[in-house]
Amino acid sequence: MSTKVDVDLYEVLGISNSASKDEIRKAYRKAALASHPDKVPEAEREEAEVRFKAVQEAYDILYDEEKREIYDTHGMGAFNGSGEPGMGAGPDLDDILAQMFGGMGGMGGMPGGPHARKPRKSPNEEQKYEVRLEDLYKGKTVKFASTKNVICSLCHGKGGKERATARKCATCDGEGYKQILRPMGQFLSPTTVACSTCKGAGDYFVDKDKCKKCKGQKTTEAKKMLEIYIPRGAREGDKIILEGEADQVPGQEPGDIVFHLVEEEHSTFRRAGADLTATIDVTLAEALTGFSRVVVKHLDGRGIEIQHPKTPGEVLSPGQVLKVPGEGMPIKRGDARGDLYLVVNIKFPDAKWKPNAAVLEQLRDILPKPDTPIQADTVDEVEFDPKGSLDDFGAHDPEGGSAWEDDDDEGETTAQCATQ
Ligand SMILES: [Zn+2]
Ligand SMILES: [Zn+2]
Repeated sequence: MSTKVDVDLYEVLGISNSASKDEIRKAYRKAALASHPDKVPEAEREEAEVRFKAVQEAYDILYDEEKREIYDTHGMGAFNGSGEPGMGAGPDLDDILAQMFGGMGGMGGMPGGPHARKPRKSPNEEQKYEVRLEDLYKGKTVKFASTKNVICSLCHGKGGKERATARKCATCDGEGYKQILRPMGQFLSPTTVACSTCKGAGDYFVDKDKCKKCKGQKTTEAKKMLEIYIPRGAREGDKIILEGEADQVPGQEPGDIVFHLVEEEHSTFRRAGADLTATIDVTLAEALTGFSRVVVKHLDGRGIEIQHPKTPGEVLSPGQVLKVPGEGMPIKRGDARGDLYLVVNIKFPDAKWKPNAAVLEQLRDILPKPDTPIQADTVDEVEFDPKGSLDDFGAHDPEGGSAWEDDDDEGETTAQCATQ
C-alpha cells in the first residue's frame, strides 16, 4: 500500500473541527469566493474548479449536522459506499475523490487514484443566481431556455453506425483517461484527466463509421425550457436544484443544475436572517411635534405608516430604533415573519432655512435650556472648522496608523458620529 493520504474536509474549508455552523458557513463563502473559477486567470481555471468543488462538497457534508457526525466518526469512507473507513492508501483516496468530485466532462477533469474509473454521474452544473430582495420576499418563478447536451437519438449514445465497431484508442490504451499529478492543498494528488484523442471514451469510430446525426459525438444539443421556483423567505447560499438537468453523458446518470442564490444588495433594506432594517428620514419638526405618514415602501410595495408619538409630547432622537414586529422577511415553510427595525435619521434644517432673529429667539425660549455651565478656572475661546471630518481623526499621529484601530474608548466616538 502506498502512503496514507487524508482529505480533511475541515482543512479544505480552513476551519477547526470544533467550528460552529456559522463559522462553517462563513468559511465556505470565503473559500468559495476565493476559489471561484470565474475569479482566477484562465491558466489556473482548471485547478480552481477542482478546488471550488472540494469546497462545495466539504460544505455540503459539514453544514449538515447528520452528515457531519457521520464524517467525524467514520471519515469519507462512510460516504462512498465502500464500507470500511480508515483503510487509508490509494484505493480509498480514489473513492473519496471520485465521490467528492462527481465526474469529469467538459470542464474539469476527474481526480482519481491509481485505478481510474468512470464517474457514475455526469457533472453538476453549479451556478450563481442573483435574486432581488423583493423576489426573496414574495417568492418567484423563473423560466428560462437552457441548451444542453442530450444523448443522440439516432445512435443512442454509441457514436457510430449501427453495425460499426469502435476502435480501441492507442493514445490511452483504451483507458480513456491519463494520470497527472495535481496540487491539492499541500500535497500532490494523482489526478486523471480525459484522453484528448478519444475524449475519454477509450475507443472511437473512424470517420466513415461515425453516426451521421451526432458525428460521433454521442450527444446532440437540445433546447429545453426550465423553471425554477424561489420560495419566499429563501436566503443567500440556498441551493435550488434541477435534478438530472445537466448535460447528458453516455453511460452516466445526468447530473443536476444547481443554482446558488446570491442576494442582491438593496437600496433601502438590509437583511439579517428573517429581520429587516431600513433608515427612515424624519424632519426636525416631525421629531419634535410628531407625524402620521408612510415612512417606507415595503418589498411588496405596501406603504408602511407610522404614527408618532403614541404619548403626546414624546420626541424622536437621532438613531432611535422603531421595531415593527412581523414586518420582516417571511420564514420559509410557515406563516411566521421576522421583524422590521426602522432607524430614525433626523434631517436637521440645511442652509435653505433662514429663520429671522425673532423666530430663533422664540425657539430658544421654547426648547429646553442647556445643562449647568461647565466650571473652569481658565477659559479660551477657540477657532474651529465647522466642516471637520472624523476621517482625519488620528491623521497627525507621528507613529503612523490610525487612531481608530487601537481606540478603546467606550463608544465616545460613535456617539459623536450619531449626532453629526
Ligand atoms: Zn484515448
Ligand atoms: Zn449519434
